[in-house]
Amino acid sequence: MKFINCSCGGNAIYFRRYEGRYYCKNCFINQIEKRFLKTVSENSLIGKGEKIAVGVSGGKDSSTLLYLMKKFFGDIDISAISVDEGISGYRDESIRKAEEFCKSISVEHHTVSFKDKLGFRLDDIKTDNFCTHCGVFRRYLLNKKARELGADKMAVAHNMDDEVQSILMNIFRGDLSKFRRLGAKPPSVGDEKLLPRIKPLRDIPEKEVKLYAILNSIPYYDGECPHSLNNVRRDVQKIINDTEERYAGTKHQIISFYDKISPAIGSGIPIQKVLDRCKICGEAATGGICRACQLVENITGKVKGIAE
Ligand code: SF4
Ligand code: ZN
Repeated sequence: MKFINCSCGGNAIYFRRYEGRYYCKNCFINQIEKRFLKTVSENSLIGKGEKIAVGVSGGKDSSTLLYLMKKFFGDIDISAISVDEGISGYRDESIRKAEEFCKSISVEHHTVSFKDKLGFRLDDIKTDNFCTHCGVFRRYLLNKKARELGADKMAVAHNMDDEVQSILMNIFRGDLSKFRRLGAKPPSVGDEKLLPRIKPLRDIPEKEVKLYAILNSIPYYDGECPHSLNNVRRDVQKIINDTEERYAGTKHQIISFYDKISPAIGSGIPIQKVLDRCKICGEAATGGICRACQLVENITGKVKGIAE
């Protein structure tokens, strides 16, 4: 049997179509780590002495992010936060994986649940749009917990595919304000209640994050959320993956296009400033009541703050 070689002479295990290049295990791992470090340094994502909270679900992306953070920034204060939305047959197992992994690499792990903080599980909501509710509540709870832990920043495990989907979704919706708030270090709205978010995996395609996790034996939960079948992101993902299949390099081109136009359009599109405090929970709000409290009210039919 004839093996195809990596440029170093080793046996290739991966063909990167958009580069037309074969990689052996070591060169692939080195290349992913270089890419991660480049994103961190080019965007000044992590400062000396900072405390970083990492959002972890137990899936491949967040487990890989935590592994890389620990490997290269083990001297800074890192803690992990999981959100238990209350999704039967899915989240219990993924959080168990996250807990186990955090323990094995000595990272402090916290879980906040919809049931405790909002009074209901995601599965119990009557809606045809679980993801919108889930996203608003999850961001709200992660931000609040990270702030309580004294974190300076919140690291999220968005990979290149997630970012490309967000770019296109905001184009489809014509949402310039959200379009402007993408990137590895989205521009801050300048409100101390909202922690800056960073995305160290933003320049690594999803399938390469997965391969990196497998090659490094990083444990992760591979299940799929039962509510993910009916969401816009999934439709956009299909369009992008089909286009990438036909025209290798499309995802990189979209990211590169975004990075080129982002500074140019930055001054022309105002960042929506959060100037208010929610009358119910005291968190950041653009109107009188924050989005999370509005949704809780819609769901429960009661004016009810989000629990401390
Ligand atoms: Fe939440 Fe939707 Fe993701 Fe499921 S697929 S975890 S409902 S955002
Ligand atoms: Zn509120």
